[in-house]
Amino acid sequence: MTDPVPGTVRYFCPLECGWHYDQPPPSLADMAGIVPASSAYLPEFISWMARQAMRRCAELVDQAAREHLATHTTEEFAQAIHDLRVRCENLARQQAQQTSPRDDLWESLGIDPDRVSREEFEEYMDVHDRKTRNRT
Ligand SMILES: [Zn+2]
Repeated sequence: MTDPVPGTVRYFCPLECGWHYDQPPPSLADMAGIVPASSAYLPEFISWMARQAMRRCAELVDQAAREHLATHTTEEFAQAIHDLRVRCENLARQQAQQTSPRDDLWESLGIDPDRVSREEFEEYMDVHDRKTRNRT
């Protein structure tokens, strides 16, 4: 297996079927076919040529992606959307269950909420965090 050209960007199928497309950066050969605009200054011409080469790369990626996506069925798109929704819901559920370091501290200190409310504790911790941050 040969290593890809440095600067090669790998594009994956958004449906995560395993397909990918490797787009190498524009080469001198790619630029050879680009016809220069007449009476352009050299720096402008070089940047114009680079833009044309980059546009050509983008067109190749777009074409490869479109051709590949056309091989997928409507059911596969629907399944991919469903899977992403399930994954998002699972992440949201995980996040909701996670406790913060402040929750742990609140628990371990065993503060009586009738004497110090959770809001007061949060304010105190905000002040503490701000002072700690300013010290560094
Ligand atoms: Zn695919």
